[in-house]
Amino acid sequence: MSDTVVGPTKGGPTMVLRRFAAALVAALALAGVQVVSAEPAAAAARILYYDASQAQEFVAVVNQGAQIWNSRVTTVQLLPVPAGRTPNIRVYADNGWPRTYTSSLGNGYWYMGREAVNDGYYKPRIAAHEFGHILGLPDRRTGLCTDLMSGSSAPVSCTNPNPNSTEIASVNRLFATSAAVPAREFVFTG
Ligand SMILES: [Zn+2]
Repeated sequence: MSDTVVGPTKGGPTMVLRRFAAALVAALALAGVQVVSAEPAAAAARILYYDASQAQEFVAVVNQGAQIWNSRVTTVQLLPVPAGRTPNIRVYADNGWPRTYTSSLGNGYWYMGREAVNDGYYKPRIAAHEFGHILGLPDRRTGLCTDLMSGSSAPVSCTNPNPNSTEIASVNRLFATSAAVPAREFVFTG
């Protein structure tokens, strides 16, 4: 009796189930192989959406800061948020110092502060620097213009808005591994 119910009768319920399971396993294996065999450089970059609509007179320079990173890193890209979607990053403007508040890697908000702009700091460098915090980089006050994350420790006359190779590599590594980054506040000066 039980043989007719659970036996591997061709076309019976158990056989159908086994065929389905085999197909599922094959599909999963195929998906797994595709993921594993992808070259790191060809892996899909993580997309972070930013909202610059409240950046007032700095919208263009915020977009420039995003483009600077997009043209240099491969594991993450900063895109303007589409309508109806919640951004990862919001950008504001006020009269204080430029500063960033991160909640986790790739998420947070930052201010394009007029205090630094009015002191003469180069606006594209400020924007790229603050995005750098969102992308997981801390301040490194080396005083060097070649370091994007040296911030206000570099001379006011510094007009380099580009991350250096070490900074680029750090961001690529952080997003390749989805590294955990604690919530922090970063202020452009101090
Ligand atoms: Zn900073």
